[in-house]
Amino acid sequence: MTVITDALCPFCGCLCDDLTIVVEDNKITDVKQACKLGASKIMGHHRIKAPMMRKDKNSEFKEVSYEEAINEAANILSNSKRPLLYGWASAVCEVHKKGILLAEELGAIIDNTATVCHGPSTLAVHEKGLPSATLGQVKNRADVIVFWGSNPVHAHPRHMGRYSVFAKGLFSEKGRKGRKVVVVDVRKTDTANMADQFVQLEQGSDYLVISALRAILSGHADVVPESVGGVSKEQLSKLVDTLKTGKFVGIFFGMGLTQSKSRYKNIDNAISLVTELNAFTKCVITPMRGHYNVTGFGNVCAWETGFATAVDFARGAPYYNPGETAANDVLLRKETDAAMIIAGDAGAHFPADSVRHLAKIPVVQIDPYWNPTTEVANVVIPVAICGVEVEGTAYRMDGVSLRMRKMVEPTHLPDTEVLEKITERVKALRGE
Ligand code: SF4
Repeated sequence: MTVITDALCPFCGCLCDDLTIVVEDNKITDVKQACKLGASKIMGHHRIKAPMMRKDKNSEFKEVSYEEAINEAANILSNSKRPLLYGWASAVCEVHKKGILLAEELGAIIDNTATVCHGPSTLAVHEKGLPSATLGQVKNRADVIVFWGSNPVHAHPRHMGRYSVFAKGLFSEKGRKGRKVVVVDVRKTDTANMADQFVQLEQGSDYLVISALRAILSGHADVVPESVGGVSKEQLSKLVDTLKTGKFVGIFFGMGLTQSKSRYKNIDNAISLVTELNAFTKCVITPMRGHYNVTGFGNVCAWETGFATAVDFARGAPYYNPGETAANDVLLRKETDAAMIIAGDAGAHFPADSVRHLAKIPVVQIDPYWNPTTEVANVVIPVAICGVEVEGTAYRMDGVSLRMRKMVEPTHLPDTEVLEKITERVKALRGE
């Protein structure tokens, strides 16, 4: 029996690094400290056993060898005029690097799961920058925590315990007792139930509410109506007071802000609010990134191509224009004629029209787990679990890079090897 301490969890953007893993006969038999989401991922439930292929989407899968599946994947991608390589968020940075090389070879579009979550945050950060901090700074210093359009109780279960609400730190030794917690959301979530202040706004009115807060903060409360987006002026003034009088304010925002009306302009406006609050106190803002290494893909893609996401190699050089080159843009326009979905689940998270198009075109899935994308795939290549069976680098939601360890010997090929083999085969098919 081996006991691995300080292991990392490859599930959500918290990237908890304090787990204890018990290994017996190359099998993980116990996971301590992780939440249910992380433990289930590490224990490897719903694994795909072997590579599979099927003739068409209505026929049954047949198990095949890795070689057959990789050759067929390479055929599909090299025969495509507009291939899309999508996903990447649940894989380590070493996988991203190989994926970008394949995209360049194919002249493909490469995009990641941010396209349906924090893509708008990336656009806002282009314009305004990100006045942020590490989760360690928040743990040690923050006395006011705001969750805006995010529900960590369910989506990031250990965020509040490890970093934000309950965590005790150097200058926050009282933990929860020394902190004010504010939740801004359209409905009373389980996180809101634990808050000191809950601001319930109308769906799609985030931009208006942030603008009203900025007006009050800058001494122009007279221009603010009695109610904005369903929130009373009194409650808005109280929130401004809470923010202004905090010693260190940490704002964490989720898809309630990024994917509601006004999208990236919401984040742009929230960043401006944070910048203005810094005239009164210390205030930082951090996106609640979902998959454990979605932040890593943005970093790798930016240093390899110059752009963080939605990169189109069709011109022979990287081109980026979200709205035109993001995964859902090409799927909704029915432009892409083949897709490779890796370490992400388009079948579960994309709009229905995009999934309908995926169901009509050849799809290669590379993933350790069976998920809704498997249902629209023609070729399925199972891989080792990054951070459990393969080591590598991942970036936490606050941009801190951490090294993930190999805890057991892999039972499947790693993504990097599969991508290398597909790239070699594509080159061979093209006579290179
Ligand atoms: S909070 Fe996230 S990173 Fe931490 S154990 Fe749970 S799923 Fe894993």
